[in-house]
Parts: sequence; C-alpha cells; structure tokens
Amino acid sequence: MSALTRRPITPAVSARLGARWEDDATCRTVGRDPFYVDSLEGQKAARTVCASCPVLVECLTAAQRQEAWSQDRWGMAGGLTAPQRLGLVWEERLHGVRPDLAKARELTGWRWARTIRRLHTKGLALEEIAREIGGTTAQHVVTTRLALWWLGLEGTRVRRRAPGDQTSKWQRVAAAHQEEIERMRAMGAGRFDVSAYLGVSVNCGVLATTQVNKAAVAELEVAA
Ligand code: SF4
Repeated sequence: MSALTRRPITPAVSARLGARWEDDATCRTVGRDPFYVDSLEGQKAARTVCASCPVLVECLTAAQRQEAWSQDRWGMAGGLTAPQRLGLVWEERLHGVRPDLAKARELTGWRWARTIRRLHTKGLALEEIAREIGGTTAQHVVTTRLALWWLGLEGTRVRRRAPGDQTSKWQRVAAAHQEEIERMRAMGAGRFDVSAYLGVSVNCGVLATTQVNKAAVAELEVAA
C-alpha cells in the first residue's frame, strides 16, 4: 500500500498542504498492508513503520484535517490508531488545546525517549510524566500524551492502581473523571468518545459512564 492510496488522505487535503509530502512516506515502500489491521500485532507493525517516517507530522495533520471534515476515522494514520486520533479531538474539545506536533516528535527522539520510557515503566500517570519532563500546562500534557502514543506506550489518563487498592479500573475511571465524563455526555459524546479520550477499553468506558450517570441520578433524587 502506498500513502497515495490510503483512504484517510485525499489529494484535496494534500493539495491544501501545498506539497507532495506523500512522496517521502515510509509506507510507500511497505509491501504488506498493516495499516488497517485491528490486532495489537498489526498496530505495532504499522506504528513501527510510522516511527521512522520523515512525514509523520504531515501525515497526522492531513488525517486530522480530513477526519474533522468527514467524521470518519479508521486504520492507522500519522502513527496513531483511530481511537487515539479521536482522543486528540476530545482533548481539544475539553481542554481547548492541540498537541505541539514538532515538540511531540522531539520527545520521541533519543534525548527524551529513554526518560519517558523509564517514567512510564515506573508506573507514573500521564500528568506525572508530563511534569517530570517539563511542565503542567494542558498543552504540554497532550503533547506528552502524543509522544507516548508515538513511542507505543499507553498514554492513558487513568492512574494505575495504588498498592492495596482493590477497585476495578472502571471504578477508578468513574471516580477520577466524573466531571469530564459528565461534560462529555452533555456534549453528545458516545461510548467510543469516552473510551478514546480516557484511553481505556470501550467496556471500561461504558461501565464508568453508567456509574457516573447513576451517581448523577442519585444526586437528583436526593435534591428532589
Ligand atoms: S506516518 Fe505512517 S501512515 Fe503516515 S505516511 Fe508515514 S508511514 Fe505512512
């Protein structure tokens, strides 16, 4: 498959970007087609191809522009899965920020990648990793999240279970992200949106959303 034939990027989008950046795409030389495989192995293979691609930033920019227009996301583009690209959409809707693509690319380089991998292995949450490598602003956090994804790391917004904590992941999600889930529901988000933004499975997102809805109903009943 070549970058010219991949559906997420149309000639019109490329023309607006003003260059035939696809000519430099690493995936032009890939003989097989890992970009539309849902398995983790397939995604890993595609991500490996993207990681060395000199037009990674241009590809993600083009995919995001086209998907904003079509609202149709599928396959790997710009080094991200479709749910990860949807997660970036909700980062912007909820926090009003987009990642700094050039900075995220820099964070995947030798100077930062080792540090980020070490922090991730220690179990630090996204915000903690962002703070360790330079800041707490919303844009720095989402930029760090993109770098984590490009490095093939989790990038979830859910903190790992503390020692002795017996709660399920969805219970921790509901407790920690109640306000965001309520805002997303009010903005018309569905189960795929919630799970994509939080970086959890769809099942986990549904259970957490149900829990948040139940809590909201209980509050209304008490108030009534
Ligand atoms: S970033 Fe990945 S999908 Fe995009 S052009 Fe490069 S290799 Fe192809």
